[in-house]
Amino acid sequence: MTRIAVCGGVYSNPYALRAFVADARARGAEQLYCLGDLGGYGAEPDAVWPLLLDNDITVVAGNYDVAIGRGDTDCGCGYTDPRDNEFAQLMYDFTLAHTSRDYARWMTTLPTERRFTQDSIDIHLVHGSTLALNDFWWESLSDDQHALRVQESGADLVMCTHSGLPWTKQVGQTLVVNVGVLGRPANDGRLEVWYALVELVDGTVTAELVPLAYDWQAQAASMRAGGLPEAFVETVETGWWTTCLEVVPPYERSQGRYQLYRSALPDSFDQEQVSWADAPEVVDNGLPVVPLYGSALFPPRLWLYTNFHCNLACSYCSVASSPQARKRSLGLERVKMLVDEAVAEDFTEIYLTGGEPFLEPDIVEMVLYATAQLDVVLLTNGMLYQGWRLEQLRRLAGRERLVLQTSIDAASAAGHDVNRGLGSWQKAMDGLRLAKGLGLPVRVGMTSTPQNAHEVEPLRALLASMGITGKDFAVRPLVARGFSEQGAVIEDTNTVPEIAVTADGVHWHPAGADLDTSPDMLLARHPSAEYYVPLAEAKRLAVERFLVLRRNDGSLPLVYNCAV
Ligand code: SF4
Repeated sequence: MTRIAVCGGVYSNPYALRAFVADARARGAEQLYCLGDLGGYGAEPDAVWPLLLDNDITVVAGNYDVAIGRGDTDCGCGYTDPRDNEFAQLMYDFTLAHTSRDYARWMTTLPTERRFTQDSIDIHLVHGSTLALNDFWWESLSDDQHALRVQESGADLVMCTHSGLPWTKQVGQTLVVNVGVLGRPANDGRLEVWYALVELVDGTVTAELVPLAYDWQAQAASMRAGGLPEAFVETVETGWWTTCLEVVPPYERSQGRYQLYRSALPDSFDQEQVSWADAPEVVDNGLPVVPLYGSALFPPRLWLYTNFHCNLACSYCSVASSPQARKRSLGLERVKMLVDEAVAEDFTEIYLTGGEPFLEPDIVEMVLYATAQLDVVLLTNGMLYQGWRLEQLRRLAGRERLVLQTSIDAASAAGHDVNRGLGSWQKAMDGLRLAKGLGLPVRVGMTSTPQNAHEVEPLRALLASMGITGKDFAVRPLVARGFSEQGAVIEDTNTVPEIAVTADGVHWHPAGADLDTSPDMLLARHPSAEYYVPLAEAKRLAVERFLVLRRNDGSLPLVYNCAV
């Protein structure tokens, strides 16, 4: 039996390399290997060399080592985005200037791969992949891409490092191990770095990824003393990557804290096209990158579909609600859990919608629970305030953090009832007056269709006469979803994500939250009625899809003014 320890990307981090040697020896590793990229990132490249020699670490050259050895003008990391390259160049120039020529000459003697047999296991050590020195072998590559790299080698065990994120995967007969890197954390919010411990026993191999604690404070202090950018130090101190993100695929990038360069965010909005009333400020903390979530491109607004059945069957309902709609209710306990989760996940407002939420017996309890913690908008057709529902509604009078949004499409019955049903305008207006009379903060949402577009100004005037003005009257366009074949075509490619939770699953956008008519907008189905997709995972899925869909400048068209 042989135990070997394999590390990658030292990135001028002698503190982590020292910890690797101690930890690996303590775990019984007889042989130590390093898969290259000795420099970059940290401020002390030359401090790494004696540690490699004194501890008998067998090294495979990475692209960095080849470049430094030759004295190239760049690292050859394989970045394509100019913003990634800007940071990579800064690091490389520093490393080249602070690497002794003797050390650099030693790098030229290193092979770029090693192949040997140990305990009857054919082992292939590479830096990037079996295809290229600077190939990024990500976990999220397709099965075909994994197979391609494995077939190129044919070894029993292939180990690599270049992409910097650790993982293991059995591909056919081959175990593939990306050992991660010692030089910086793995974009997981942990301060440890990673290496791999491999056990070889008579033709069998097992690998364990080991989180490695080390003196990260010393590394951070050394980087500051060396005058390296704070963005680099931030990663060492927080565990989140802050530079060179564009090269990271959507799946891996969606797991980190940051997704986009700050320069990719839109800095102004066309009020006719934006899906926000006010774009949130993204705090300038000096970092070049920002999280997608919480920016104008992914607002922290949560939609909860309390139900899908409705007393109306509007001809253009975007989620196909009606009295006959498939019954799907979240229920009070689930709504409470979602509200708690929303707070934990930094959502700032909740929209309770349906169907008609006032068909839910516990709707007022839901509102009371949610408004105790967050701003809440309750969307209703305003027609059901009689009997016990009226009594329930009275409990909301004076409730802070609540807006009651009523759907009204015209200043008179004809323009409203044509799509929503005879008599619905009068009942909605009565409901609106009643709610206002109770002192509830009210807002009116009008769905604009080719037939009622001329009603906007008369309705605005009517509402103004009732004291409903400004942003409390919002016009939103008809969308071709649900029952409607007319209207704006909205898809995940032209809307920003606003997560909607239904009893079926989590969805990209509230206007496509009906699984039956908008399956394309589904992010994930709930595994069961008891276990819902966690909001953290819903956010990650939305970020991943955004990154897959976005345009090169990091933006998506913002066309649908949904909420207000
Ligand atoms: S648009 Fe609103 S009121 Fe009309 S059917 Fe759909 S959910 Fe009900």
